[in-house]
Amino acid sequence: MSKIIDCKAIAAEIIAETDELRKSLQTVPSVVVYLLSTDEASANYAKNIEKDGKKLNFEVRIRSEKPDSFRASFDHANHDHETHCIMIQYPLPQEYDSAKILSALDPKKDIDGLSDGNSLALYQGRTGLFPSTPQAVLEILRRVIKDPEGESVTVIGRSRIVGLPLFHLLLSHNFTPTVCHSRTKNLPDLCKKSRIIVAAVGKARMIDERFLSAEQVLIDVGTNFREGQWVGDFDFEQCLPACRLITPVPSGVGTVTRAVLYRNIVKAALWQKNLI
Ligand code: NAP
Repeated sequence: MSKIIDCKAIAAEIIAETDELRKSLQTVPSVVVYLLSTDEASANYAKNIEKDGKKLNFEVRIRSEKPDSFRASFDHANHDHETHCIMIQYPLPQEYDSAKILSALDPKKDIDGLSDGNSLALYQGRTGLFPSTPQAVLEILRRVIKDPEGESVTVIGRSRIVGLPLFHLLLSHNFTPTVCHSRTKNLPDLCKKSRIIVAAVGKARMIDERFLSAEQVLIDVGTNFREGQWVGDFDFEQCLPACRLITPVPSGVGTVTRAVLYRNIVKAALWQKNLI
């Protein structure tokens, strides 16, 4: 069996399950994406969502508002029955009050899982819409580890979009997570002690064989563009021979994340129609 986890197959499974789930939905889900900065990565991300919309049959409207027009546009989308999902692309320019936006955002439309309502639901172990990348990590782990109950996981990174929500999701699925960050002492030792390592740092090839022990499962969330190619936070060449399983970069966690975002879109539309 290959040590490289087939994330494309996992994504295909999630898409097939979501297509099944959406059969009870009579409408095409619609997504408004707010692109409020000139950040190139955000613009590319929005374009990819548009592409996925064409492939998977959901409607995407990208809006580049100025601060004075944003408020009315956001209020309308947040209350409009024809808009099922809202995404705000980060980073936001200084003129926008992120805390205010996330507190106003309707949790049922919040497919990034960042609104106050969904953050609290995650923290309290209730149902809601949660960030796609941590859910993608969980989907991968649940498929590649037979009996995950209690397994130790070292998560490197504590961002609001990846590390922190992943900690809560892992805990609510009975894993035993430890979250590390830039001030963590003895990171290699902590990594060696756990069965699973999830790297979400954004530093190319930072984790090498010095961080590993035998038979570990390595999940690489990092996406770093180096010398004309995408590489992860794990040093793939060194880690592949030393581990039990590893996700590739590219075509790894990111591929599963896009499938989970599609599931969030469908769930948001179903939730608003009281179908789930
Ligand atoms: P972020 O907000 O910059 O967070 C990075 C985290 O890494 C922080 O918690 C930081 O610690 C920690 N860190 C930095 N240097 C470290 C070190 N030397 N040792 C241990 N921890 C360290 O990044 P993010 O948004 O979470 O994204 C992380 C990576 O994942 C990026 O490469 C991003 O492109 C990628 N990403 C991929 C997907 C996907 O679907 N594949 C989705 C989202 C993000 P402090 O908190 O102490 O600063």
